[in-house]
Order: sequence, then structure tokens, then C-alpha cells
Amino acid sequence: MGDAIETLRTWIAESGNIVFFGGAGVSTESGIPDFRSVDGLYNQKYDEPPEEIISHSYFLRSPEKFYRFYKDKMLYPDAEPNDCHKALAALERQGKLKAVLTQNIDGLHQKAGSRNVIELHGSTLRNYCMNCGKSFTVEEVLRSEGIPRCDKCGGIIKPDVVLYEESLHDGDMEAAVRLIAKADMFIVGGTSLTVYPAAGLVNYYRGSRLVLINKSVTPYDAEADLVIHDSLGKVFRQCVSL
Ligand code: ZN
Repeated sequence: MGDAIETLRTWIAESGNIVFFGGAGVSTESGIPDFRSVDGLYNQKYDEPPEEIISHSYFLRSPEKFYRFYKDKMLYPDAEPNDCHKALAALERQGKLKAVLTQNIDGLHQKAGSRNVIELHGSTLRNYCMNCGKSFTVEEVLRSEGIPRCDKCGGIIKPDVVLYEESLHDGDMEAAVRLIAKADMFIVGGTSLTVYPAAGLVNYYRGSRLVLINKSVTPYDAEADLVIHDSLGKVFRQCVSL
């Protein structure tokens, strides 16, 4: 562990074009649970698994039930950035980190100060009326009773989140691939690298400093140049002055 941290510290010092890709593990350290993790609660409280509820067709078919789950399990407006978010923002300010690519939808990277963030799965902080396009805050969505509706036209409000069955926003994947291909160091954190698009992205990196930081083993551990099985916050606290 000590040697790995030392290596990571050295590589960060030597790099000028770091790209970070993060999964749910980045946000769990801010108290936001991975909604995909099966904790048994869903089975007691909800009739369907989260993957079905958070899907495009389910949203259209049963918006009330969608929002019951969504407001209960996916909105954390009071969550605060943790040391991983803060370290990445610091590295960007130092000119070392070019971009954060994230699968999380909580806006915590921006809250920590990161500017160049590609939110591959969108953001719960942006919400739009499906009818007239008026935008709404996450607080307005949370405050609504049942299905949030537009105060201007009565249309249903939809979060700017990529639901199951929906494709990623145009250009996001291409931009992510370009950034990864040019990076001198690629840090992947808080993901088991088993779910699209995470797994595929690793293959676009061409350098010799692929770093995987995850609490558990991933299928890409053998291909990485450095693997650390630990908490992201703990690792970054030791490598970056916050
Ligand atoms: Zn409207």
C-alpha cells in the first residue's frame, strides 16, 4: 500500500494530462448509495427492481411510481463533496487534470470546483418540462407532490438523467474517448468496470499509467499499471494537498 501510494504520488507529479473516470464509488463516500446495489429494501418497498423503474418506458408508463422511487432513492441535494472530489478539483486547478468523466448524476464534482466534467449519465440537478422545455431545480422536483409538473404549461417534468433504454447524450462518449486517448495518465476509480460504458472506456487509453482505485477487484486489474484496493478519499488524501 505504501509503495503504491508513493508511485501514484510520483506519477501525478510527473503528469500534465490526467483524465479521471469515476463510478458510483466516488459518490458513496459522500453518503450517496449505489442505487443498483441490492440491499433488500427495494424488494420490500418497491414492486420492481431499480433497473426497471429507472427506465425510459417505465417513466412514460408510470411516472408517479417512477418519481416515488426517484425522489426516495436518487436525490441527495444536501450531499457534500468528499476528498476524492476535492482532490480532483485541486488537480484541475493545478493544470494537471484535464477532465473528469463520471457516471454519477449528483453534480458533486462541480460542487467541489471541477469545471471540465462530462456527466455521461446526466444530472439530477437539471430538469426540464417535457412539453415547453422550462427548466426546474432539483429542489422544485423534490418539493412537488407525486409527479412534478410545469407551473407554466402543466407538462410533466423529466430529469436530465440518462435512463435505462436511453442513449447517452450526443457527443459525450466521443469527447470522453478523445480525452482518454490523449491522456498521459488515466485514473479509474469507484467502479467495478463491469457495466457499460465504463468497461469499454479503459480500452481507449494508450499510455502506460492506467491506475485503478476500487475497494474490490475488477476484471481489468491485470491490465492496469497500478491497482489500489482502498477508499478513494483515503488514497487521494495521501497524494494531493487539498
Ligand atoms: Zn412546461
